[in-house]
Amino acid sequence: MSTIIRTEGLTKYFHDPEPFKVLDHIDLSIEAGQFCAIMGASGSGKSTLLYTLSTLDTNYEGNIIIDEKNLKQLSKDELADFRNEKIGFVFQFHYLLPEFTVLENVKLPALKLGRKTREEIEQDALEKLSLLDLQGLENKKANRLSGGQQQRVAIARALINEPRIIFGDEPTGNLDSTNAQRVFSVFSRLAQEFKQTIILVTHDAQLASQTDRIIHIKDGALVDG
Ligand code: ADP
Ligand code: MG
Repeated sequence: MSTIIRTEGLTKYFHDPEPFKVLDHIDLSIEAGQFCAIMGASGSGKSTLLYTLSTLDTNYEGNIIIDEKNLKQLSKDELADFRNEKIGFVFQFHYLLPEFTVLENVKLPALKLGRKTREEIEQDALEKLSLLDLQGLENKKANRLSGGQQQRVAIARALINEPRIIFGDEPTGNLDSTNAQRVFSVFSRLAQEFKQTIILVTHDAQLASQTDRIIHIKDGALVDG
């Protein structure tokens, strides 16, 4: 296995309302294809860690190396391209466009990346929807779906560009246990079958126990893992 994400002394401060070290010298190494859970008390810095690792937050000290690229060496535009191409993100709230259809929502990141024809993108989107057991719903408006279905559409959208890495910030936080388990099984399959690297924040120890690795964080520092 090869390392896909490595951090060296990753440290971050918030300055408002007062200086506060939110990430404290994190040295972390994650293998390609690994399915990881991040756990820790509320306020311990899990979301902040996820945002910095996923290139959404660039205000940190130390280094983040993804796929052998030190993110600090990329310009803002290069970083945006890098993110579009290599990283998928699933949030606790799905942020689908409610008045758009399921299919339109899933196609969006691929249209934005602009690497494929519209026909290819449509094919890819249908494939991802079927992977998530959503076939037949493609032409429904997103706001007509149940919570569990909407979260699966959000995952299909995160998968459309076949990112090497998928981050999820409590992606099952709003789901009942059946739907949460379903979503976790999908992530597990993506790691096993497609060797995608999955990093999810969860508070659910039972779900976390199904991953390859649990990363514990306390007061912005790694506990073990
Ligand atoms: P978690 O996801 O583990 O609950 P967060 O990463 O969201 O934790 O937040 C870690 C700490 O940083 C918390 O104390 C939170 O209040 C603080 N924090 C988060 N975002 C900001 C911000 N934009 N400005 C100042 N403090 C913040
Ligand atoms: Mg959080």
